Order: sequence, then structure tokens, then C-alpha cells
Amino acid sequence: MLAENPNLRKDSNRIKSIASEVVSKINEMTVAEQRDVLERDFPGEIEKTIARKKEISKADSEKKIELPDLPDAEFGKVVTRFPPEPNGYMHIGHAKATILGFEYAKKYQGKFIVRFDDTNPAVEKKEYYDAFLESFDWLGIKADLVRNASDDLTKYYEIARTMIQKYAAYVCACNQEKMRENRKAGVNCEHRSQTADQNFTLWELMVSGETEAKHSTLRFVGDMQSLNTTMRDPVLFRVVEHPHPLKGTLFRIWPTYDFNGPVEDSLDGVTHAMRSKEYELRDELYYAILDSANLRKPRIIEFSRLQLQNTTVSKRNLRKLIDEGKVKGWDDPRLPTISGLKRRGILPGAIREFVLSMGISKVESQPSWDLLESINRKLLDPIAKRLFYVENPVSLEIDGAPSIKVLLKFHPDEKFGSRTIETDGRFLISASDASQLKIGSKFRLIEVYNCEVYSIQDNLIKAKQVSDDNLERMMKVQWVVPEKSIPFRVTVTGPLLIDEVYNPDSLKISEGKAELSARDLKIGEMFQFVRFGFCRLDSPESAIFAHK
Ligand SMILES: [Zn+2]
Repeated sequence: MLAENPNLRKDSNRIKSIASEVVSKINEMTVAEQRDVLERDFPGEIEKTIARKKEISKADSEKKIELPDLPDAEFGKVVTRFPPEPNGYMHIGHAKATILGFEYAKKYQGKFIVRFDDTNPAVEKKEYYDAFLESFDWLGIKADLVRNASDDLTKYYEIARTMIQKYAAYVCACNQEKMRENRKAGVNCEHRSQTADQNFTLWELMVSGETEAKHSTLRFVGDMQSLNTTMRDPVLFRVVEHPHPLKGTLFRIWPTYDFNGPVEDSLDGVTHAMRSKEYELRDELYYAILDSANLRKPRIIEFSRLQLQNTTVSKRNLRKLIDEGKVKGWDDPRLPTISGLKRRGILPGAIREFVLSMGISKVESQPSWDLLESINRKLLDPIAKRLFYVENPVSLEIDGAPSIKVLLKFHPDEKFGSRTIETDGRFLISASDASQLKIGSKFRLIEVYNCEVYSIQDNLIKAKQVSDDNLERMMKVQWVVPEKSIPFRVTVTGPLLIDEVYNPDSLKISEGKAELSARDLKIGEMFQFVRFGFCRLDSPESAIFAHK
């Protein structure tokens, strides 16, 4: 209002109080009453709004997502990659990097590589490799090549030797604390003045696992005074005395990601290395290592990291929530992991569209779940069966109602078929619908008949049938038949974090009765409980709520 009538601004406080009075008055009205007022005072507005909404959703569905061109991309020659570390489950942030890499390779008819950066044996597990592969499959990501960095260790050692010989790397025996102090002060340690020959001998001792070399590292000869602190002689290799999930105890010297990231990208023939913006400071190091190892340099393409509101994509935080029992595993439907999203009923197509709609912008944003949900809803609506469910049921009896058979379609689209439900006038309706009924209220039992309430007791509402042609204006009430319904529970997720803190109310259970056909749902099937929301069957007689 203020935007349309700037003159009103001087009275904004008065207008606020009038507006809130009007809004609360409207909120007290039933939908049918609201509709009456709209039709009386603003004829034609409802139709106009519906038409406008249809137009918007039509324009939305016709919008084809086209990725912007990559710099220096040659058709047929683009090679992209996604390098996950198998130290947790795939989440929506990984999905962004994967889908962008995959889609760009497709756009240029190039090659897409999945490379497990599995060079930190202490935190990696076979289970995580498998979980990533399963998520790729589910998302429809097909890699031209899947490989492991851990297969290249002897190659890495060779490259390290080349770097040592030209004094681009040195063996340092400082402990972590000493290293940190020196970096902070910007001073070299005594090991930096060892000759290339000395370093070479020390390196071979490291590799063969002999004696005093146990805590040594191989460090890059950077610049201890560089303003970019990642250039202050970063560690390239260190000793990890922990069996590797694939290689066992075959190796004890493992590269850091600072080393194996650029080296692998180069060896794999990657032309465009995509990574999220949080690594931006490491670009200089990435190129410096390739330069000193005489390796070809791919081009780095950066995009913003994908963070969803009210949740976390940090693997460390995710693991903490799991370890503390605050969520029930990596596929907990509150988590932004791919397995969590899948369990909640988010479709792979929705994740793809969601990610691509953000493209390769570098602007940091925290898109809301609403956006993902609205994309998902658009995809689900034409494919989800519609069933009846009443939450916290209350009994409803219709006086002298005839026994009738109600034919209900599963979906406006005929191909989903229908079911027939027999009723004799006894129903269950949801507590929230019941709470809106007063003596004298008229309402429509959906697809059955119209009624008027004449008695309300604790958990029993009595009504009689009425004929009223004002169908459109009546409150609509959802129902099931007591003997033809089954107990059903729906897990409803809420925000996992509020202001970065765990929300203990993030999981609620809705209990009620569902019509018998809910028994025919298959595990994993998406369906809609009419006027309740879209759900995914998680186990027999239990579902997870996806969204409205
Ligand atoms: Zn040192």
C-alpha cells in the first residue's frame, strides 16, 4: 500500500494498526466467508489472480536452463571433474559441484571424471565411496571415468623427487606447533637451508619408513612472508600411520590436497577445474605447484559455495550431529545430504534444477528450502497419487445418512485410476477441521455431501445432511471411514538449526488415520495426503513429510 501511495507514509503508524486490525478480522473468517467478501466487493479479482498464477507457472516450466559459456572451451575437448573425499556422505553442496561439472562436460560433449581424493586414510571409509557412487547414480550423474587418487601414489613420489631435485620442496622435521609459530612470524626454519641432496636422502628415509623420519613432512618452497598465508611453505606430504580403506598399509607417506589436487587435475587432462569460492586463496599455490612440477595447468573456475538456510553442509558439523545422536544417521530427512533429501522426498530432478538455477555465480547466497520445495512440488504434482488422511481424528456422525459408495479419483489425471469407499454416515475428520466447526456450521464432506452441525461433544460431532447449492463457498472437510482406515504416522521435519544452534523441535510426528489404499503404497513412493502435503512412504504405515 505504501509503495503505491507514497502520501500514506506520513501516517504509517496509524496505517499499521488499521492493517493489523483488518488482517486479524480476516483471519477469524472461514475461507468460505473470505471468498464471499472478495466476490461481493472485488468481483472478478479471484479469476484474475488464478489466471495470473497460471501464466507465471507456465513461464516457469518453459524456462530452459542454459549454462553460460566457459572461457577457452573447445567443443569436444572440455574435461571437467568432481573430486570428493570419501570421508562422509554426499550433500547438496557436492551436488552443485558435481552437476555443474557433469552438465558442462555434456554441453561441450567433453569428458566428466569423478576422482576420489582419498589421500587422508585416517578419516576415509569404504562405506563413503559407495555412498557417493550411489548418490551419483540416483542423481543421474554418469561419469566417463571414476578413479582414485590413491592409485597414483608412486607417481606422486616421482613428482616429489623432481621437485626436491630442483629445490622446490624440502624435508622439514619441525612439529606442528613450531611450524605454526614460524608461519605466523614469517621466518624460515633451519631445515629450509638443507641442500637438495640432503633433502633427497631425507625424503627416501621418509618413504622407506626408517627411524627418525617419522614426523617429517615434505614442504613446498613458497614464501614465508607472503601476504597469502597459504604460500608460507605448505606441507605437500606427511606421514599417516593408518591403514587406508583401499590400499591397506602399503603406503605411509600421503600427499595433502594442496599437492594432489592440482597434480591430479593436470595428469587427468582436466581443462576446467571447478571448485567453490572458499578455495580462492589457494589458487596461487595450485598454479605454483604445477609450475614447479613442470605440469600442464588447467583453468580454475570458481563458483559460490551452496549453503542452505537453517542447516549445515560442513562434514565436520554433520558428523558431530550424528555422533551426538541429534540426528539419526546420514540419511536423516533433516539433513542436506543426498540420502537425507531423497528420504524426505526431494526428487533428483528438483535438485538438478535448483542447482542449475544458481549457475556458476560467485555471489554467496543462502537459498531457502522454500525454493527447492517449490521446484519439487511442481515436479511432484502431476505424478503423486492423492489420498485421504486425517490428523488426530475426531468422530463425525451424520443423522440418517444413507449407505453410499463414494467414487474417488486418485488424481485429476484419469490414468491414476480410482477407488470406491462405502460409507454409512460415520466418519473421522481431523481435529483441526473439527475445531473450526460450530453448531450451525455448514460444510462439505469432500466428494460426499453437505452437512450442518447440530451437536458438538468432546470427541463427537453430530450433523445432518443439508442441500445447499453454495458448494464453492462451503468449508471443505477431509474424512476417512473408521473401519476403512489404518493408523498412520507422518514424520514432519522442521529447521535443523536455528541461528546456527541445534533445534530440539526439528522433528515432529503427526498421527492419524489414512484411508485403506495407503496400504498399497510402496516404500519410497511419493504421494499426496490431500490438504496435508506431499509425503514419501518410509516404512509400512509411516511416511516422511516432504512439503505442502
Ligand atoms: Zn623445519
